[in-house]
Amino acid sequence: MHELSVCLALMQQVETIAKQHNATAVEQVYLKVGPLSGVEPNLIRKAYPLAAIGTIAENAELFIDDGEVIICCTQCGSESAAKPNRLLCASCGDFRTRIISGDEMILERVELSTAH
Ligand SMILES: [Zn+2]
Repeated sequence: MHELSVCLALMQQVETIAKQHNATAVEQVYLKVGPLSGVEPNLIRKAYPLAAIGTIAENAELFIDDGEVIICCTQCGSESAAKPNRLLCASCGDFRTRIISGDEMILERVELSTAH
């Protein structure tokens, strides 16, 4: 299952960050999953608890921001938001656009608890 391996890779990232900060637990995990990332947020939500078992993030809450698609027109140079299935420039209507944002899946932020 693709989403489970995505989550396992994510857990490694989270654990690395937690170790760097000497965290005792991870409270919250914030993910950004772009509409064009090829990753389904609902499947991530299902796979995440499985991937988190036995990790420092076992009880962490998962937040997913699906963001929006931003494109840059190669013809007129303007940036605009676009629908994932219709990547047209909002200014001139050209299809020769470049995706600036919306195809990424990134770990945005983790909230850690540390012992003092
Ligand atoms: Zn344009």
